[in-house]
Amino acid sequence: MSTQTLPETHEERASASPVKYVYSFAAGKAEGSGTMKNELGGKGAGLAEMTNAGLPVPPGFTIQTEACRDYMRTGKVSSEVERQMEDALRRLEQLQGQKLGQGDNPLLVSVRSGAKFSMPGMMDTILNLGLNDQSVEALAKRSNNPRFAYDSYRRLIQMFGNVVLEIPKSDFDEVFDAKKRQKKAKLDTDLDAKALKEVIDEYKKVVRKRAKRDFPQDSHEQLVMARDAVFRSWQNDRAKTYRRINNISDDLGTAVNVQAMVFGNLGETSGTGVGFTRNPANGDKEFYGEFLLNAQGEDVVSGVRTPVPILELEKVMPQVYQQLRQITNRLEKHYRDMQDFEFTIQEGKLYMLQTRNGKRTGLAAVRVAIQMVEEGLISKEEAIFRVEPNQLYDFLVPRLDEKKAKIEVLATGLPASPGAAVGQIVFTADEAVEKAGHGSKRNPVILVRAETTPEDIHGMEVAAGILTSRGGMTSHAAVVTRGMGKCCVAGAGDIAVDEKAREMRVKGQVFKQGDWISLDGTTGRVIKGKLNTLDAEPDDPELMKFMGWAEPFRKLGVRANADIPRDAIQARAFGAEGIGLCRTEHMFFAEDRIPHMRAMILADNEKDRRAALKKLLPMQRADFIGLFRVMDGLPVTIRLLDPPLHEFLPKREELMVEVAVLEATKPRSPKLKELKALLRRVEDLHEFNPMLGHRGCRLGITYPEITEMQARAIFEAAVAVAKEGVKTHAEVMIPLTAALKEMANQGGIVRRVAEEVFKEKGMKVHYLVGTMIELPRAALIADEIAKEAEFFSFGTNDLTQTTFGFSRDDVNKILPTYLAEGILKQDPFAALDRDGVGELVRIGIERGRKTRPDLEVGICGEHGGDPSSVQFCHEVGMDYVACSPFRVLTARLAAAQAGASDKLKVEGGRTK
Ligand code: PEP
Ligand code: MG
Repeated sequence: MSTQTLPETHEERASASPVKYVYSFAAGKAEGSGTMKNELGGKGAGLAEMTNAGLPVPPGFTIQTEACRDYMRTGKVSSEVERQMEDALRRLEQLQGQKLGQGDNPLLVSVRSGAKFSMPGMMDTILNLGLNDQSVEALAKRSNNPRFAYDSYRRLIQMFGNVVLEIPKSDFDEVFDAKKRQKKAKLDTDLDAKALKEVIDEYKKVVRKRAKRDFPQDSHEQLVMARDAVFRSWQNDRAKTYRRINNISDDLGTAVNVQAMVFGNLGETSGTGVGFTRNPANGDKEFYGEFLLNAQGEDVVSGVRTPVPILELEKVMPQVYQQLRQITNRLEKHYRDMQDFEFTIQEGKLYMLQTRNGKRTGLAAVRVAIQMVEEGLISKEEAIFRVEPNQLYDFLVPRLDEKKAKIEVLATGLPASPGAAVGQIVFTADEAVEKAGHGSKRNPVILVRAETTPEDIHGMEVAAGILTSRGGMTSHAAVVTRGMGKCCVAGAGDIAVDEKAREMRVKGQVFKQGDWISLDGTTGRVIKGKLNTLDAEPDDPELMKFMGWAEPFRKLGVRANADIPRDAIQARAFGAEGIGLCRTEHMFFAEDRIPHMRAMILADNEKDRRAALKKLLPMQRADFIGLFRVMDGLPVTIRLLDPPLHEFLPKREELMVEVAVLEATKPRSPKLKELKALLRRVEDLHEFNPMLGHRGCRLGITYPEITEMQARAIFEAAVAVAKEGVKTHAEVMIPLTAALKEMANQGGIVRRVAEEVFKEKGMKVHYLVGTMIELPRAALIADEIAKEAEFFSFGTNDLTQTTFGFSRDDVNKILPTYLAEGILKQDPFAALDRDGVGELVRIGIERGRKTRPDLEVGICGEHGGDPSSVQFCHEVGMDYVACSPFRVLTARLAAAQAGASDKLKVEGGRTK
């Protein structure tokens, strides 16, 4: 490549423009730099940085993100942007000695999106721009390769037609496939120049018919239209969804990179590939990637041809291989992070097209961070931020064993629910149930559907994993499997599922019911055949080492929400420092216990209720004993009963049907009498909105004997365990209070029963009585409530429900629309709404501590395991967060990152 510098233009010398919209990069010198991700986007900044470092980068220019924001505001590109682009184009033409789409040696360019944070595949790209009916002939002559020229032109019409003119890709695919059939061609590369020329004519007809205009022959018009389409692609649904999931602002906009084309499809000394400087799946320090000879970029990713492992490049082009190794090593050292790169070889000459920090699994993230500290590339403090807290979940779920296995990736979908699943394909939920069988050892099946619906739930329940060809990260399959802790790959668009024919087609292969596949829910890969799986490794030595660096920065305690000893043991294994919420009603979900709980709820007088409670007491006491033993002196926060009653009662509608059937068939049966009585009581208890009904402390206030029984069970258990020599630290928690007198009423009962038990047993144990703050009023009068409450735990599930006025049970009917419309940026039940709910939390803490400066404050809503919410809890000065056992590790790292970013004064956490 030429080393001459860019010619300066007249305009530049005369006056500096107010906003610089366009940044050129060419021949060892770029106007921008790697630090300008805000303006140039990740790709543009990378191209500038590589150019400045003297690496072989095809020259071009980047139109910065401000121009996209402008476009979004006004719907057009300003004359200043146009002027600067023309200017940059002219300079590029001069440098190359070519003209865009003109003459014997036409300049051809690629037009690519590139936002600040990488959004792989979400926005649009156009290659070979500048080709038209004339320039394609020039290219054919110059390259002495007409096939290559026509192939490039047909690709341009296809990409341009799809991206700019919004013609479905399938319209072009149909033409192409028909031509292949007609010519009996197996591979795309089997079509010769003549056939491709015919394809071009057909493609043009598709454009005329669908877009009601001709494919533009004017290259300049092509460029302008492509640029605007890339700006628009920032707002496409895919991109919007990706931003929502990854918490990227909609306001950033994308840059547009226009770059001289280099061709990997010029014959057997050309090629193209992608790679990573380390293995992104397991973090091994190895050169990793794949390439194809005589191909353009999309061939590598589209699965039309099977790419070759990158190490093979050493055999075919040893010099190019060495140069690539050298360059990528340099890039990794320069960026001090694992790189994900793209390259093209044009007639034996290497060009770098992109480099960026590579996405990786949690396992790889931890290992790469540790290696880089050991290699002296980064400090331990930096390493802490190289792992996303949510990625640690990878250590807690099974993985595919890829060592020595032959991996054929059939498709890559969305990593909807992490973990691994290996099983035989079934296509319907009923078949899943049938094939999986019963008992403890089920046959592993993978349920493959175009999409799942609530009707599939029985099949999802028994399947080892779920694969869908449609749907996103919030599709039914994704949401349900995450709740089940089951592996799921969703929206694997390359797979065609024919449920009727019981077939799945992908990469030209047909899979039938009973065929084995393996799913990787962490990366979204669908792999052919039966791989082995590796068990979860929560005590992985490298994870331990990594956490050992992070944990000293953590100020927040991390407790678990656990109701039974088994969960508590699990939570401790993951590092929980106590139980933040034991939902006592969950202790009664077991089959043998529900009848007693139901009897207690259905009792319509105190005597019957006390009788039922008497049966519950020993069970509850035994559970508490178990919890205290497991937690061995760590705090155990026990919440008094807060059952939305409907969860324990038979369904009113079902009872009505049963009664009606018996009335018609066996009007004298004693069962009918019993059911009628039950129905009457269920109707008495029926509530229109049970979530806002007779629950929380309201239950203990109307039926004090319930609180008495629970307090007795807690203290009898604590004393029994203390007598064994095990320390206990009970925190008794009153739910759903909104008034000081509610707290005083329930706290009074708990303290009285404690004294009674201590007297009876001749032993005292330490305990606290506190409350959940889960209603706005409680937060606002927290100074009052703290007179009686010795600790607060924010129940942000209910607090979100009551602050927004959204019903927890029904919100999913409106949430998808709210998210799609951008009314809400995130699901407020998943990530704490800082502006509203968070403000109430802040007020609650401040006012509570005004009354009681040493008030212990925590959170036990779902948000306690969400990294950004944990960061918020750190900022507002909570003492601990509590979350489900499987999120404890995530919460520990999120809390450590929050502490570290405070202490080290670095920008909080997230590496994107
Ligand atoms: C809450 O409301 O945040 C909470 C933890 O309690 P539950 O989810 O049981 O209502
Ligand atoms: Mg609650």
